[in-house]
Amino acid sequence: MTNTQLLNYTNGEWCRSDAGEHLDIINPATTEVISSMPLSPAAEVDAAARAAANAFVEWRQTPAGERVQYLFKLKTLLEKNLDEVARTLTNECGKTYTEAVGELRRGIENVEVACGIPTLMQGSYSEDIARGIDEILIRQPIGVVAAITPFNFPGMIPLWFLPYALACGNTFLLKPSDKTPMTAQKVFGLIAQLGLPKGVVNLVNGAKETVDALLDHPYVRAVSFVGSTPVAKYVYSRATANGKRAQCQGGAKNPFIVLPDADLQEVARVAAESAFGCAGQRCLAASLAITVGEAKRAFTQAMAEAAVSRRVGYGLDEGVEMGPVIRAESKARIESLIQAGVEDGAKLIVDGRSARIPSYEQGYFLKPTLLEEVQPGSQLAQTEIFGPVLGVMSARDIEDAIALVNRQPYGNMACLFTQSGAAARQFRYEAQVGNIGINVGVAAPMAFFPFCGWKESFFGDLHGQGRDAVEFYTEKKVVVERWLKE
Ligand code: NAD
Repeated sequence: MTNTQLLNYTNGEWCRSDAGEHLDIINPATTEVISSMPLSPAAEVDAAARAAANAFVEWRQTPAGERVQYLFKLKTLLEKNLDEVARTLTNECGKTYTEAVGELRRGIENVEVACGIPTLMQGSYSEDIARGIDEILIRQPIGVVAAITPFNFPGMIPLWFLPYALACGNTFLLKPSDKTPMTAQKVFGLIAQLGLPKGVVNLVNGAKETVDALLDHPYVRAVSFVGSTPVAKYVYSRATANGKRAQCQGGAKNPFIVLPDADLQEVARVAAESAFGCAGQRCLAASLAITVGEAKRAFTQAMAEAAVSRRVGYGLDEGVEMGPVIRAESKARIESLIQAGVEDGAKLIVDGRSARIPSYEQGYFLKPTLLEEVQPGSQLAQTEIFGPVLGVMSARDIEDAIALVNRQPYGNMACLFTQSGAAARQFRYEAQVGNIGINVGVAAPMAFFPFCGWKESFFGDLHGQGRDAVEFYTEKKVVVERWLKE
């Protein structure tokens, strides 16, 4: 792959940024520099926001049934180019080709659901709220909307927002991750073939300065953000202080409870997928196992076997089940969190540090790591690791285990493994998280369900996807009418 400068896409044209600074985009398996991303200045955000504002005038008048025709075409193009986009995704993000294809499929699912927006955004009407007076609720698009997305799902996450925003009649501006911007470049290559009116969709590469320009821009009416909790909080407070609507999804630390009546071999299989899939770089990755009673010994043993047997390597190589983490600094941070856990009293069962992958010795690889006797309240138990590391702690009973779940500052996901319906109901009822798994690891809710995070995992009122996306991307207007007979 050549080291090319990535472009912005503004007003229907690919444009070279005038940025004074660029970031190297690195394949984390080979450490090869595969492209260069401009840190676009505020003037380029302004040009894109203006183009989007101009396009909005016509786009909002385009019937919803016509708007979604572009999305039907986008789905077809994404399907046709899945292999090429997935390869780019693996090269810049590190996840395996199978994971990249799976991620893109979840993105396409959002395009499909957004095609139903002519129905989803219908208003409502009541005749005779008083004699001869009718009341109507209308949904209207809000204008220019922006999305700022993270490195770990560069294919799917922009598609949590773009299809809904467009179908509802808004115009759109994407600021993709500064670590994995190449997938968006490929997807916009397909969007550029749709024949959309100029300015309806725009792409501006960059990092903090570019984000700040978006958050301060008067034409940007709403911001969707996905990323780490500190940045989510920052984006939420700056966007809302500037009068914008904002939905900001943050980080996570996801626990799962294993009761002794569960099928522990099956739990270990599911938990290994959840903890080590995408090298643990998922906001829904399982990170902490809480075993109850005698589940501990057999579960830890089965989990150790699953950790040791996972094939780690370059995601485009045959048979590889787990790729590298994104950057050298991420690897060093994960290693130091493992070390801190050991110093706080945890016992290393499988140590994946210092992994050496033949032919990819420089890559940012870690192998799956398993620690037991993780202390509640320790750094390892509290911090989002974002790597292939599972800590195990024990609880006396389900009440004790749920209390440990609810002690977490985050609230993205928690799971329970059991054969007891009563325990499952208690867990579903009491766990303070937005996504619950019962005998499954949660990947991501289907596109017709919202992605719910609680506590430190979400800032805002309305989550993305499905009907909630329609709520977020439309303004409601109520009209009361009386027509007197001539
Ligand atoms: P990040 O917060 O570093 O970056 C996210 C986006 O914000 C990127 O586009 C980045 O360029 C921008 N950004 C970074 N620092 C900024 C700053 N100081 N000011 C303004 N903008 C800034 O997150 P990441 O490392 O790319 O992604 C991993 C994180 O995202 C993890 O914490 C993970 O849990 C979270 N995540 C959450 C969800 C969810 O649905 N809740 C989904 C995926 C990822």
